[in-house]
Amino acid sequence: MRSAAARRALRNPSDLADAALVPRERLAALNEVAARYAVAITPAVARLIDPPDPHDPVARQFVPDPRELHVEPQESGDPIGDEAHSPVEGIVHRYPDRVLLKLVNACAAYCRFCFRRETVGPGQGALKPKALDGALDYIRAHPDIWEVILTGGDPLLISPRRLKDAVRRLAAIPHVKVIRVHTRVPVVAPERVTAALVLALRMEKAAFVVLHANHPRELTKQVRAACARFIDAGIPMLSQSVLLRGVNDDAETLGQLLRTLVECRIKPYYLHHADLAPGTAHFRTTIAEGQALMRSLHGRLSGLCQPAYVLDIPGGHGKSPIGPCYLSDDGATVEDFNGKRHAYAAGSRAANTTAVSNS
Ligand code: SF4
Repeated sequence: MRSAAARRALRNPSDLADAALVPRERLAALNEVAARYAVAITPAVARLIDPPDPHDPVARQFVPDPRELHVEPQESGDPIGDEAHSPVEGIVHRYPDRVLLKLVNACAAYCRFCFRRETVGPGQGALKPKALDGALDYIRAHPDIWEVILTGGDPLLISPRRLKDAVRRLAAIPHVKVIRVHTRVPVVAPERVTAALVLALRMEKAAFVVLHANHPRELTKQVRAACARFIDAGIPMLSQSVLLRGVNDDAETLGQLLRTLVECRIKPYYLHHADLAPGTAHFRTTIAEGQALMRSLHGRLSGLCQPAYVLDIPGGHGKSPIGPCYLSDDGATVEDFNGKRHAYAAGSRAANTTAVSNS
């Protein structure tokens, strides 16, 4: 039953039960969740899940959970304030030199902690041609826009032909110098990363692909091969991960994820503190826990493996790095990776430091 079901995406709790990913007795509760938030588990994701493991880190990210129906007062349907910064359909303009362009509001697989879960789902479709024209007109009319970030949903879900058309039109705008693609497709549907898709992103201007990956088990041989297709074509890759309780909130798992990414020639870029999306409290750590994790990686892992730990400020005020900070408030001491503090002689030409204490 499981192998038959795993040849296509599983799109409702009955599919999940047929594939032995959830017990049938949980169907009623899971149907309630599926009526509220999109469900899709691709064959690549289904193969990663170990159903007997009640703490499976991949299942936790993709299999619906009744706790998603519990909404905390501080949670919001638009946790990072996209709406307030959307001047025309498809565009989010939050920072002076860059915009998001949402080409499609669907994904190959739906993350249970998704920060756009109120707007992303099957049937939301791609940006209509007229809306895309309007979004491109907006970018053309704003010469400060240096970078366009293709996002969604997942922009690599549209056909290579449509992607190529959008990329070519963006690249033709003189002030747009960089196009960045945020995607989970290489992890959840690596077979979609075809030669035609890679070719769609090849151009004279700089293109970057940013992979969303949260657990080292996601970086299978097929996923690595899909990423290598971009990188070998001259398209550099970065990664973004979401800090998720029960998935990657321990130093060993997170460290292994970050090292494996670098081994795949993917530079870890962001570690996101989980957003206040509705029904996601069971995924969120505290910021203090996130800072302690980052501290534990500092010095133990190469600088190449270190992402910035960031919080998207609720209300649409943008991302800010949230530490930890190794410099004391007065700038007089700085902490090394062993937790030892050193005096810092600010203002001197050569920075002299002296160990002051162990803390
Ligand atoms: S890939 Fe991104 S947009 Fe799509 S469901 Fe996951 S978090 Fe949401």
